Amino acid sequence: MAIFQQILFIAVVATTGYLLFKRILRIRNNIKLGRKTDRFDNKSERWKNTLLIAFGQKKMFKKPIAALLHLGIYVGFLVINIEGIEFFLDGLFGKHRVIARFLQGINMTGFYTVTLNIFEFLAVIVILSCVFFLIRRNILGIKRFDGIEMTHWPKLDANLILIFEIILMFAIMTMNASDQILQSRNVAGYPQTGRMIFSDIFASPFYQNLSTPALIIVERVAWWIHIIGIFAFAIYVTYSKHLHTALAFPNTYFANLNAQGKIQNMDEVTKEVKMMMGMPVENEESTNGNEGEIPRLGAKDVNDLSWVNIMNAYSCTECGRCTSQCPANLTGKKLSPRKIMMDVRNRAEEVGESIAKGGKGLEDGKSLLGDYITKEELFACTSCNACVEACPVMIDPLSIILQMRRYLSMEESGAPQSWNAMFSNIETSFAPWKFPPSDRFKWADELAKEQENADENK
Ligand code: SF4
Ligand code: SF4
Repeated sequence: MAIFQQILFIAVVATTGYLLFKRILRIRNNIKLGRKTDRFDNKSERWKNTLLIAFGQKKMFKKPIAALLHLGIYVGFLVINIEGIEFFLDGLFGKHRVIARFLQGINMTGFYTVTLNIFEFLAVIVILSCVFFLIRRNILGIKRFDGIEMTHWPKLDANLILIFEIILMFAIMTMNASDQILQSRNVAGYPQTGRMIFSDIFASPFYQNLSTPALIIVERVAWWIHIIGIFAFAIYVTYSKHLHTALAFPNTYFANLNAQGKIQNMDEVTKEVKMMMGMPVENEESTNGNEGEIPRLGAKDVNDLSWVNIMNAYSCTECGRCTSQCPANLTGKKLSPRKIMMDVRNRAEEVGESIAKGGKGLEDGKSLLGDYITKEELFACTSCNACVEACPVMIDPLSIILQMRRYLSMEESGAPQSWNAMFSNIETSFAPWKFPPSDRFKWADELAKEQENADENK
């Protein structure tokens, strides 16, 4: 029986490893569809951000209750999965509680008991937090969890992950409770672990009256549910918004450190303007990293965005904090910065899938602009940066919007008529207004005249 379990376990580990490797490679390739951009400067600032915002979840604490519960799930899940090390060793060696046996051998059972009780305490916190989040998401009708983009899979995904976590925690409690009863009956193969308080109180009463063979089945099934659950969870997360649990860290590290609102010029356009104005051009090389290639002005599809923009999209938690702060969205416009991020991810996935299957990839006749994001959404943006400020994982939807607007304006002359008038004024009069530069100080001349008249009449 033990050998069968070992073989099954190794098969599960190998399959998970293979599927995970393939999926991570795909995501990496999809992110690499984007243009190069240099985000390797200012390392100390970047590490500071990563520690405070990604590890410390600083921006989450703008909403303290949600932040504490989120922290409970995050820390709980991470810490509890340390127990996964013992699960892994048990599976590999076909034993039960390998670490407990080892610690028993060196008289450290107490340490094991305390650690397991901490895990169980955190498991209870995770269950309560998940239940609260399920109620908040499905019953309390909080507006930011709705929206045109939050239908079908995104809605299901948000609920599935919470249910998944509850099942994993219940599996631990069930395993520990049945294990304790088996220990009290001195069943061979179940070493003494000391009392595990939470499972003893909340779960043991359900299993107390089971026969020993039935209890062994319950304990084994709970063990397998937990271990397969962890592996399935690891694969599932890579298809889910919960990929942010891993990507929030690099995403925060590589975030834009420029002052908010500073618009990124295109080197090629800057050079051309400087040459037109007879100004010296310092750097003849393209800094977009794609030497020898004449880049598109702005972004029409995912490959026109930077790799950081695409990584942003994969890091989006779909929390809706950006959309809930967006003045365009709040005043009933079609724009939702969360949808922008989800669209970029969906398009990157579509292109990546097509390339992997030997299809047309970016040449599939579709593009991010038009098939996913409309002009109406893009031109509703006020460039206020509220979405960037609100994002807990330093995502920058505005950067994508501006690049796509740049494409519409510069390559398709698709900007609204009023904007085109402003652009031509800037080109001819060096200001948004329709006055020649020579008239710009006329108001001051008139003031001077009035002053002169006033002086004469004194
Ligand atoms: S920058 Fe644009 S998308 Fe972001 S909050 Fe402001 S209006 Fe909305
Ligand atoms: S962009 Fe940021 S704030 Fe907006 S939904 Fe994604 S994670 Fe949340």
